[in-house]
Amino acid sequence: MKPLTELKDELNKCVRCGTCRSICPTFRVIGRESASARGKLALIDAYLKGEIASSETYLKHIKECTLCGACRDGCPNGVDTIGIITAARAEAVQRQGMPYAASFILKTLLDPGRIMPVALKFASRIQGLLLKDSTVEVGLLSRFSLPLVGGGRLVPPLARQFFLDMPDIKALFEGARSKPAVSSATKPVRVAFYAGCGVNYLMPEVGVKSIEILRRAGAEPVVPSSQICCGMPAFSMGDLPTAKSMAIKNLEAFEACECDYITTSCATCGHALKNLFGDLLGFDPELDARVKAMAAKVRDITELLVNVLGYEGKSPPAPPVHAPWRGYPERGESPPPLSKGEESGGVKKTVTYHDPCHLNRAQGIRREPRRLIESAPGVVFKEMKFPCGCCGLGGGLSTTNYDLSISITKRKVDSIKASGADIVATACPGCMVQLRDGLHKHGVDVKVAHVVDLL
Ligand code: SF4
Ligand code: SF4
Repeated sequence: MKPLTELKDELNKCVRCGTCRSICPTFRVIGRESASARGKLALIDAYLKGEIASSETYLKHIKECTLCGACRDGCPNGVDTIGIITAARAEAVQRQGMPYAASFILKTLLDPGRIMPVALKFASRIQGLLLKDSTVEVGLLSRFSLPLVGGGRLVPPLARQFFLDMPDIKALFEGARSKPAVSSATKPVRVAFYAGCGVNYLMPEVGVKSIEILRRAGAEPVVPSSQICCGMPAFSMGDLPTAKSMAIKNLEAFEACECDYITTSCATCGHALKNLFGDLLGFDPELDARVKAMAAKVRDITELLVNVLGYEGKSPPAPPVHAPWRGYPERGESPPPLSKGEESGGVKKTVTYHDPCHLNRAQGIRREPRRLIESAPGVVFKEMKFPCGCCGLGGGLSTTNYDLSISITKRKVDSIKASGADIVATACPGCMVQLRDGLHKHGVDVKVAHVVDLL
């Protein structure tokens, strides 16, 4: 990844056409030029030319971004807006350092074996004091404003037992250390599972279900024990040294495991394993080759199930009367609506799907999760309007500017409500947390599930 001072040519590619304004979730809410990619690039350009200082206002504007990637996808000149904005954040952190709370959390995630057990045991003890039970099924409400949390927010409770501490999961550590069975025609596909922080600390049930589905699909799941946070939170906040250290530790953990594929149930982690590690470590030819070899094995769990393992669920796939991935609504138009579950046979649940930015834009995966939902028993799939609109969580925005982050979620909540769905499924624990909070805040009674929960 290039430092900001080497991105002047990239900045000069911007012709100020403004296409990025119409697709930017932060601009849509704030309506101010500096909230759009074009405005941010103009500010960064002025900063590099010495026309403005690195003031609080400058920093506020470069943080007003979910790093959703819509501007980069939509830019007719192919400007790497995300590369420029993240480089500007990294330059600011290098000069000024990180806020203490964020720095402590990132260091804890970097060295989970040493600090994490104590920190999280303490956090799980005091969460009852700081947070109270909500009326909704999953989540606690913060009693008052907390650093990085904010008051009145629906917060996912820490799991009673973390995914990587579960005896059934620890039993899979050994598989990751051992050699695979001698090759034969019937040898199962060996899949190393990457949990990520969302699954490990907040939603271990998603990880357990993922392992179960991998087995049901005929694979042999293994779990490398020394995996840690993927580094995306550190990268988004501009702490590149921490993100690089995390990438190297994970690279070593998965290199030590002889597997055919690496999979994850988290869109953000999958994007990190496939793309971010290369951006962070690609400066070194030796590391670059190792990262590329690892990234070639990485598949999102929906991608692996559909494209590699041919998983079709218990029930036969839905007849091809509706194929939402054909003519996919990139710019917001909706495909023809499906009938509601009730109309198509009694007790079926209607499920809509939210595209995580890190799966849809960063990995190009849209068809596979929909295919799995359509093949799930007791389910009718219904596309929502703006399925690929950002949920508002990313880029660290939910911690640096919660009000803006949750305002972005409102549009998504309206789309989910208008779809008439009973359940909104997605493929990212982070999006699940944000959607639950947004639906709760706006009084919309729709359950949030991971795609694997439906299978
Ligand atoms: S769409 Fe691209 S070229 Fe146009 S203003 Fe935005 S970043 Fe610049
Ligand atoms: S990455 Fe998303 S939120 Fe950030 S400027 Fe681009 S479109 Fe806007």
